[in-house]
Amino acid sequence: MGDVFGELAGIASPPRLKRATGAVRALLHAALDLALPRLCAACREPVEGEGLCPACWSKLSFITRPYCEQLGIPFVYDPGPGILSMEAIADPPAYNRARAAVRFDEISRALVHALKYGDRLDLAPMMGRWISQAGRELLAEADALVPVPLHWRRLWARRFNQSAVLAAAIAADSGVPVAAAALKRVKPTAQQVGLSRPERAANVQGAFRVPDEGKAAVAGRRLVLVDDVLTSGATVDGCARALIRTGAANVDVLIFARVADPGRTSI
Ligand SMILES: [Zn+2]
Repeated sequence: MGDVFGELAGIASPPRLKRATGAVRALLHAALDLALPRLCAACREPVEGEGLCPACWSKLSFITRPYCEQLGIPFVYDPGPGILSMEAIADPPAYNRARAAVRFDEISRALVHALKYGDRLDLAPMMGRWISQAGRELLAEADALVPVPLHWRRLWARRFNQSAVLAAAIAADSGVPVAAAALKRVKPTAQQVGLSRPERAANVQGAFRVPDEGKAAVAGRRLVLVDDVLTSGATVDGCARALIRTGAANVDVLIFARVADPGRTSI
């Protein structure tokens, strides 16, 4: 095993590779990962095949119907077809429909963190496939996927945009193309963690814009925003507003994991 790591270290050290861009380096790491025994993204046990061991996989909580047809929040009981959650009625989002693959919990958080901060790009095809399944109805009507953009400064620090990586994986699975230039984050927003709901909305106010070069990919198109985690929904709502202002025909949202208190129904 030591030899394998030694070789990999040797492969990675030539100076010309040090000048490689972050994205290339991340992809290289992902490619090299394929040659190594993989670890479960949650518990770090070696796994066969894709990124979770059977024990952690069984703890994942996939989101299925019944859920609010607009927000995608799971219901504790089935209120009948087409019923919206109290949340959707009280505070309607700018987007049309949101769907998420799994609930945000210990296991899904480990997957998100491994992808985002751990260079575990090998997890993306699996996560993308789960998102595609959750969003099959939305993808069937979609013209393009739009990843929630990072501000360039954060992109530079983090080296790749995890939402763009997930969008590429969904595109590979569904055949719906990615419109990478459709949206820009023009304001470096504070981290949403720890902010109240109104503070989150204020934080993303004016943060997203469709640049001139993105307008053709937005006007009259049916778009699906892609993000890794949905908490209050303020970020995707800000994105949806910018796309709708530019004339998008429809904006839906696909998320890997959503914070989901069981939704109360309107009845
Ligand atoms: Zn595990």
